[in-house]
Amino acid sequence: MKALFLDRDGVLNVLRPNDYVKCPDELVLLPGVKEALDICRRHFGRIFIVTNQQGIGKGLMSETDLASIHQKLLDAIGPVDRIYFCPELERAHSFRRKPNIGMALQARRDYRDVRLKESVMVGDSKTDMLFGRRAGMTTVLVGNNSTVATDQPYLVDYRYPSLLDFAASL
Ligand SMILES: [Mg+2]
Repeated sequence: MKALFLDRDGVLNVLRPNDYVKCPDELVLLPGVKEALDICRRHFGRIFIVTNQQGIGKGLMSETDLASIHQKLLDAIGPVDRIYFCPELERAHSFRRKPNIGMALQARRDYRDVRLKESVMVGDSKTDMLFGRRAGMTTVLVGNNSTVATDQPYLVDYRYPSLLDFAASL
C-alpha cells in the first residue's frame, strides 16, 4: 500500500521562523490544505504526519501542548492514520529525528501494509527531502523557503508551490 508522509510546519500550517507552534492559537493552516487532504485520501492508502518538534526538548512546550495543537489540526483537516513526532533536540542526534528515518520505519512497523518504495514524502525543507530519499520514497518539495531544489536537485523528485498543487496533480 502506498502511503503519504507529510511534514507539518510549512506544509500544513504556516511556518513560524525561528520559533515553534507552541499552543493551538499559534497554529495557522495554509490555504487549501483540507481540500488537498480530501484528494490525497483518495489516492493514498495511508496518510501520516512526520514532524520534528524539538521545542519540546527545549522546554518551550509540553507533549500535552502538542497534543492539543494536533487536535486543532485534525479538527481542521480531517483524520490521518497517525502523527509521528520527534521531541528530541537536534544535538541529541536521535534516529527518530528527520533527516534520520526512524519515523518512517516506525510507520512501517505500525502499519505492515505500507510499502515505503511506493510512498511519497511531501515537505518544505532539505531535511524532509533527505528523509524521504533515505527511506526510499518519492520526494515532493512544496513552498519556496528552501534552497534544496537548486543546491541538491537530486534530492527532489517533484516540486509544487503548495500541497494543494501537489494533490491536484494526482
Ligand atoms: Mg517543515
